Amino acid sequence: MIMEIWFSLLDLIYPSNIYCINCGRPIDDRFPYSLCPVCVRHIRWANKITCDCCGKSMLARSDLGLCSQCAESQRSFDRGYTCADYGITERNLIHQLKYQDKDYLAEHFAELMAERIVAEGLDPDLVTPVPMYKKKERRRGYNQASLLAKSISRHLNKPYYPDLLIRVCDTPPMSGLNAAQRKKNVEGVFTAAKWVQKIIYGKTVLLVDDIFTTGSTTEACSKLLKESGAYQVYVVTFAAGMDTGQ
Ligand SMILES: [Zn+2]
Ligand SMILES: [Zn+2]
Repeated sequence: MIMEIWFSLLDLIYPSNIYCINCGRPIDDRFPYSLCPVCVRHIRWANKITCDCCGKSMLARSDLGLCSQCAESQRSFDRGYTCADYGITERNLIHQLKYQDKDYLAEHFAELMAERIVAEGLDPDLVTPVPMYKKKERRRGYNQASLLAKSISRHLNKPYYPDLLIRVCDTPPMSGLNAAQRKKNVEGVFTAAKWVQKIIYGKTVLLVDDIFTTGSTTEACSKLLKESGAYQVYVVTFAAGMDTGQ
């Protein structure tokens, strides 16, 4: 409690970006991504054994180099990249962004995601988010994927298109569903207007979302982008559920 009062007092004196975005410890601006050294150690970076298609971490490398889901599913995107494995710290961070009105966190995550895209040598022509159902977006006040995509587009200095894809209806929460159920859950949920073809024909699109789980949502969106004429689709997420081989 005393610490909380102390932190709120500090908040009056200094801008709030001097706190670790995960644990709230005061830090100074030498620390990248506004994470303190302790929390940086807790983040499980997805940079060891990863799927050659979707980019999620795997426990062990498979013969094909693919995770169990990519080995079995259609993937319309050319390659996926993620920054971290979806564990306790990552869930906490995303939860704050999605449900606790901490929209400023998107800036920090986007910095990491953009760095990953640059490090991979990718040069997309434009950036677009996985869309949220408009009514839901109005209720929440923002679509976290749009915030991430907008900020990434600024970092990469590429055009940002918020509405290439439209989510025509809301979907029940995906947690607890298996891959087949998730796929069914997003069938017919997204659409792209005719004018989209003019913008993305022959272009490389960077599709942005916060989390990658089985990839059913990103698959549905990538498929539409390809059908609308995109030459390549790359996907970038902040975190992805680790492949356990099941
Ligand atoms: Zn921290
Ligand atoms: Zn994969």
